[in-house]
Amino acid sequence: MIDPKYLKAEQLLNWFSENGRDLPWRVKGKAHQNPYAVWISEIMLQQTTVKTVIPYFARWMKKFPNIQTLAQADLQDVLLVWQGLGYYTRAKKIHECAKQLMALYDGAIPNDRSFLLKLPGIGPYTASSICAFAFNKPETVVDGNVIRVIARLYGLTHAVTKEEIYELAHPMTPPDHGADYASAIMDLGATICTPLNPKCAQCPWGADCIAYRQGLTDSIPLLFKPEKKEKKGSVFLIQNKAGEYYIQKRTQKGLLFGLFEFPWEYDDQRPFQAPFQKTTYQITHVFTHFRLTLTLQTIHLETVPLQTGQFVHPNDFHNYPFSTLMKKVIQILPKSKNTP
Ligand code: SF4
Repeated sequence: MIDPKYLKAEQLLNWFSENGRDLPWRVKGKAHQNPYAVWISEIMLQQTTVKTVIPYFARWMKKFPNIQTLAQADLQDVLLVWQGLGYYTRAKKIHECAKQLMALYDGAIPNDRSFLLKLPGIGPYTASSICAFAFNKPETVVDGNVIRVIARLYGLTHAVTKEEIYELAHPMTPPDHGADYASAIMDLGATICTPLNPKCAQCPWGADCIAYRQGLTDSIPLLFKPEKKEKKGSVFLIQNKAGEYYIQKRTQKGLLFGLFEFPWEYDDQRPFQAPFQKTTYQITHVFTHFRLTLTLQTIHLETVPLQTGQFVHPNDFHNYPFSTLMKKVIQILPKSKNTP
């Protein structure tokens, strides 16, 4: 006899066993997945979609098949494999975490949330995901998909918070099948309860869903999005006669630490005083708290005192980890050379 409070979980698990997806890092109906694969995939998925993550994940696992190889790798190699996913601090934290896992747990990942939370780069969401997917624990995992599903199920028309969704989702989480339940609710959000045009007629929770019954799926969830500030700056292109560009490794602590870049600035913090020629080319990049527009400027090599960087030909850029911001610059380099 099913406990009535887990009826929805039962419906969802039945739906999942028929319709759920197998992914490279988790397989339907199979608890106790590879905790290392779960951890890496969960960090990658925090910034992008399953479709984007699949090739990155495959490359990562080929290069660093286990925690030991990752812990022994150079940070630059780790950043190269991560390159393009953005949020480089996460890759650095993964590397740091692998070293701690070797030192503290002999290369294993603990199955206890409180131990996981003490490791670099593992916050409440990742700790819950690892406990659920890797160790089949009854964790309530709340990501963007779960927020949408729960907000619609309960017909929440106000701006919802993660905490509020957790309070509603937690009592529905069954004591068994932790891995499949967490996968199921995320899959429901990703494939059926999609942001636009949800397929409510195919949904296992359709009969109870307030948003569906009241025709509110277009307006739920209402998410609070703070307006992003606009910032402007410049990126400086310095080329030598061999066609190589001046790049430098970022030493300033912060988001882009350890990555290579062309000299750049915003808020008038010029990296050096030298006459430059403005081009008409710009790139825009959205950071968590602001949107940045950089104008490409060219500088004559003879006029600028260069110190710590190096000249590298564009054909060799693939050997250097660049931020997504700088990759956008690289993409328009050929055009910028045609500037009068
Ligand atoms: S019925 Fe529709 S809106 Fe409600 S949870 Fe299912 S897919 Fe989402």
